[in-house]
Amino acid sequence: MKLPGWLAQHWAGRDRYLILIDSLDPYGQFEFLKSLWAADPQRCRDLHIVGFIDTAPDSVQRVDTHECRVTLTLHRGSPVVTVRRMRLAADVVLFGDRAATDPRLLEWLARKASAPGAQLAGPSTEQTRKVLGRLGFLPEDQSTHAQPDSSALPIEARWQQSSRVVGLPTAQAVAGTRCAVVIGAGLAGSAVAAELAQRGWEVQVFERHGAIAAEASGNPAAAFRPHLSLDDCLLSRLSRAGVAALDQSLERHGAYVDKIAERTGLIEVADSPDDLRRLAALVEVSHSRAGKRSGEVELIDRQLASNKAGTELRFGGLWLRDAGWACPPTLCARWLGEDRKGLPWASRIRVRRDVEVGDLEAEGGRWVVRDSEGNQLAHVPVVVLANTQTAVSLAERAGGVMNALLAVPGSIGRFAIDQLPGVQCALSGAGYLLPPTAGEVIAGADYDGGPLNSKALAKLLMDCPDAIVPKFGSRSSIRYATRDHLPVAGEVPVAVSLGCDVDARLPKIARLPGLFVLTGYGSRGLVWSALLAQLVAARINGEPDPLDATLVDAVDPARFWRRDRLKRTIE
Ligand SMILES: Cc1cc2nc3c(=O)[nH]c(=O)nc-3n(C[C@H](O)[C@H](O)[C@H](O)COP(=O)(O)OP(=O)(O)OC[C@H]3O[C@@H](n4cnc5c(N)ncnc54)[C@H](O)[C@@H]3O)c2cc1C
Repeated sequence: MKLPGWLAQHWAGRDRYLILIDSLDPYGQFEFLKSLWAADPQRCRDLHIVGFIDTAPDSVQRVDTHECRVTLTLHRGSPVVTVRRMRLAADVVLFGDRAATDPRLLEWLARKASAPGAQLAGPSTEQTRKVLGRLGFLPEDQSTHAQPDSSALPIEARWQQSSRVVGLPTAQAVAGTRCAVVIGAGLAGSAVAAELAQRGWEVQVFERHGAIAAEASGNPAAAFRPHLSLDDCLLSRLSRAGVAALDQSLERHGAYVDKIAERTGLIEVADSPDDLRRLAALVEVSHSRAGKRSGEVELIDRQLASNKAGTELRFGGLWLRDAGWACPPTLCARWLGEDRKGLPWASRIRVRRDVEVGDLEAEGGRWVVRDSEGNQLAHVPVVVLANTQTAVSLAERAGGVMNALLAVPGSIGRFAIDQLPGVQCALSGAGYLLPPTAGEVIAGADYDGGPLNSKALAKLLMDCPDAIVPKFGSRSSIRYATRDHLPVAGEVPVAVSLGCDVDARLPKIARLPGLFVLTGYGSRGLVWSALLAQLVAARINGEPDPLDATLVDAVDPARFWRRDRLKRTIE
């Protein structure tokens, strides 16, 4: 099959080329376009395909090859809503019969053809000509293009912008050498270092301790699970995406094979008959959203729950199939390529321990990174702040603004395997209990940083030893959270720009070029780590967001400032 001449001309020599495709078989089209790209010597450097399928629940899935130079970002959900929620500027929109017969869908697709010189291609009917004409697209003169090979893509006609269609600004790839600094080697920093290295970036990670994952990410085991809510709130949608991205990353990094993580499923054990009714309602809405057969969430009685757990439980509860546990420090080591199971891109990551970053300064379109004594550590186009609360002061020193984080101390208990039943899947309720790993059983977590309270375990297990003291002690650390319980990920806003336009939309707020932040992961470090690393790495690399715009805005570092400004204006 041959590449149509017009497409070859359109993508030739470009750094990035984004195709938004309306196809009932987006995977097939992706494979097809990928093979055309691979065979074309004049091809664009990176090719990004974005598609959508009409299936519930709303979600975004990403496939990448060739060191992320060729990607498919697939949005699921009702087509018009899904396309409307995409924040991107396509170079070409390839539409088919679905959009040709649905003017609203075609209109939203056409609005996304907003890169300079963008084109639309698809069936030429009275309706498509009318809709596109109204939006300012002019039919291309097909006679000037010889098209012996155009049958490769089912396209009848093409349209070109008559004037620049004004869309929202989208992520621009950071220009210059592909070198980045990541500050902090916890879950947030390690995951983003891995994502950048996979995209061909050279990454230096600075960590103030002599070991990686020395603070909140140092617990020997931690649980991951999606959040459920009756209204499928932003936290629930984002956590589903987070669990899916984590699963993909664990798979890619061999974490399941090497038992760094297990997808054991998790039982949220009810603590009373009333609580069981609350969980039943959650299951009902989840089934009406995703379909019962998805098997993602089920209500299970005490007997079945006890069988799954391998020990007698007090009540039945919610079975979450996609949940499990992971060992954060080993996972960080794997992401950083430190544990000798070197993945191909691991050699691009260099970790510098015992280095505390104390200052950041913009100089000549780059960032000068300095230690606390003022010594220059690096001079790079991209810096990612993954250093929890000190990200706030570093962002301010760099001329940005960030809201303070809430510090929530807590601890986990490290029990010997003969102290507690060895469960076969993760359990949660007032606290959590994880399957045994590396000769110990981890139970947690409390919210006051004091000694672990075994009352929470007694609510899960039928036979819980009384006032049990963890043989290997407890481990205390601080989780940093935000006031809306959502994490913070994206470009750091510029302090001065924030005074100007009170109701500016988030994407219009000016940002410090090349300065990104990942923080506020609260109690869900595992769930956010892979997804938000992917989001930030995609932004740095100029790829389409792996989330829809509502979720990108929900984690935007400028959101608190914007909300506060709006509130003050209304008062
Ligand atoms: C008791 C407890 C139980 C938890 N249980 C779970 C669980 O079951 N599941 C789950 O998903 N999450 C859990 N969490 C939350 C999870 O641990 C955190 O969300 C996650 O570890 C945060 O990762 P991070 O990389 O943002 O922060 P951190 O792990 O704290 O990493 C930040 C790193 O930045 C470094 N740093 C800071 N400033 C500088 C600087 N200036 N220069 C250089 N380096 C710097 C720090 O030394 C640190 O290593 C739990 C948290 C606690 C406290």
